[in-house]
Amino acid sequence: MTGSVQADARRGGARILVIEDEPGIVRALKTNLSAHGFQVEPVDTGGAGLDAYKRRRPDLILLDLGLPDIDGKEIVRAVRSDGATPIIVLSVRGAEREKVEALDLGADDYLTKPFGVDELLARIRVALRHTAAPDAGAEPVFRTGELEINIAQRLVRVAGSEVHLSPTEYELLRAFASQPDKLITDSMLLRRVWGPEYGDEAHYLHVYVARLRKKIEPDPQAPRYIVTEPGVGYRFVTNRG
Ligand code: CA
Repeated sequence: MTGSVQADARRGGARILVIEDEPGIVRALKTNLSAHGFQVEPVDTGGAGLDAYKRRRPDLILLDLGLPDIDGKEIVRAVRSDGATPIIVLSVRGAEREKVEALDLGADDYLTKPFGVDELLARIRVALRHTAAPDAGAEPVFRTGELEINIAQRLVRVAGSEVHLSPTEYELLRAFASQPDKLITDSMLLRRVWGPEYGDEAHYLHVYVARLRKKIEPDPQAPRYIVTEPGVGYRFVTNRG
């Protein structure tokens, strides 16, 4: 844990706007985030949230999707039309569709209530890291675990042995590697790898993910790199940070 505590201290002072109307959750967020050096500004309506966003320019937004005044998705839309501030949505179990819509509108990640502190801090770290380095996949050689992607040579190795990927499989792997540890929805991957007209063709994606797993995962039945986020998409897990 020492490493992550130091990492928190380095990012200390990151300002987090919390838009949430449940007092218990706001209290817990304030306590835990302040303890890790974050500055927290809580507001309990969407209107106040948009005001605070414009006035304070936070480093990150934690956004409840079920607010008393405006739909949380409208806030995602408004913030995204203005800039790239990371947004993590807080959703309730069962509101899967709403969550996916918020992600497709440009929210960066989600937490399902009730969530633990470690999960919260991990999501925040990934979101803040992506603001600092938007395309980690631009590194000439990307390594995680036994997987190595040599971007310049379009070469993939697992445990030192070259793995042959089709062009589509390679593009899909690149798409994952460009967003390490970040949630990526089906529709984002489809649009990125296959093109804008394929946003709804999730079956293509699932077929190619299965092929890619067979080639790069130590155990394709229990993937460690390409992890499914049920009903939402995937997360390329590297634990880099
Ligand atoms: Ca609520």
